[in-house]
Amino acid sequence: MMTMNIERFVSKGKGNGLRALREIKAGEAIHSCEPYSFCIAKDFLKTACHSCLKRGESLSRCSQCKTARYCSVQCQKQAWPDHKRECKCLKRLQPRIPTDSVRLLTRIIFKLLSQSESDQEELYSIAEHQSHLADMSEEKKEGLGHLCTTLQVYLGEENGDLSQLPPGLDPISLLARVTCNCFSISDGELQDVGVGLYLSMSLLNHDCQPNCVMISEGKRLTLRAVRLIRPCEEVQYTYFLKRRLSSFLIELLKESQALLHRYTDVVPDRNIYVLRLLDLSMDACISLDDYKTALEYGNRALETYKLYYSDPHPSRAVELLRVGKLQHYMGRLEEAQGSFTQAYDIMKVTHGTDHVLTNEVRRKLSECQAELGQV
Ligand SMILES: [Zn+2]
Ligand SMILES: [Zn+2]
Repeated sequence: MMTMNIERFVSKGKGNGLRALREIKAGEAIHSCEPYSFCIAKDFLKTACHSCLKRGESLSRCSQCKTARYCSVQCQKQAWPDHKRECKCLKRLQPRIPTDSVRLLTRIIFKLLSQSESDQEELYSIAEHQSHLADMSEEKKEGLGHLCTTLQVYLGEENGDLSQLPPGLDPISLLARVTCNCFSISDGELQDVGVGLYLSMSLLNHDCQPNCVMISEGKRLTLRAVRLIRPCEEVQYTYFLKRRLSSFLIELLKESQALLHRYTDVVPDRNIYVLRLLDLSMDACISLDDYKTALEYGNRALETYKLYYSDPHPSRAVELLRVGKLQHYMGRLEEAQGSFTQAYDIMKVTHGTDHVLTNEVRRKLSECQAELGQV
């Protein structure tokens, strides 16, 4: 399951962790894996392939549940073993669609129920995952209880025999484990297209002084070193800052502009919420064709990343790409070239030279250079 670069160990005060077995250089891919199980986020049910997560407008629909969508016959075939039983549940509940966590948990349950003896290793590792159930507030436990009721309804009677689940993996503790150990699957622009359970990755601890980052491409998740990691050093990653476009963008813009204005003199932009507001405001301005203001927000966000996040940070690279695209579009070619160059220098390390985003930056950079007459 694990490559030879890392091994599990007990990290002081943190429980399970992963540590380096050898020296790992900045920019090296440490570990890469596919999810044990995953599902498409509700907002992307109609626009992302339920097998490879590729985004597209003309996806074909599963004729049974009319919910699952695929970009190709091959993808549909590949997804069928994991979709088969879920398909019946979706069909029965139409037009209602359960939340992401309930759909994900259902897929995990079906997988566990159909698992053979030879898959025991993976199975044990789910049972070993921390559920944090004991530390949960009553409120949160109650929330889990509600989710379980929804789950039972969704599963229906014909699929509801949960007594066959492995010991210790009743729905409530499974749900608790899943909510604690899931990773968002982001696309290039960092929108959360799906959510997945990556067994080996869940052993990782996160840290504000990370030595690696987690990058997704399709549903594959790759852990990459952003600085030199010495043998036996714990491997710790940083969270990506999430960005989500909303249909209430315009109202939100008014709201966030008012908030930003109010906080300008009081709170430096370091505040994570202010950073999110800046990002949202930038998105909103772009969709309103106000590029000048969008750029101002983008530059402010960049300053914040530079000041308060360890470098190289993947989120800063994506922000640089966004700002660069804006500058490029506005004809500010030299500035755009500068932004793309900085983004490329970070992404070479955080994303690797083959990642789709790194390729996009490289392409944008050469476009700029061509337009500036440098090539
Ligand atoms: Zn596909
Ligand atoms: Zn279906």
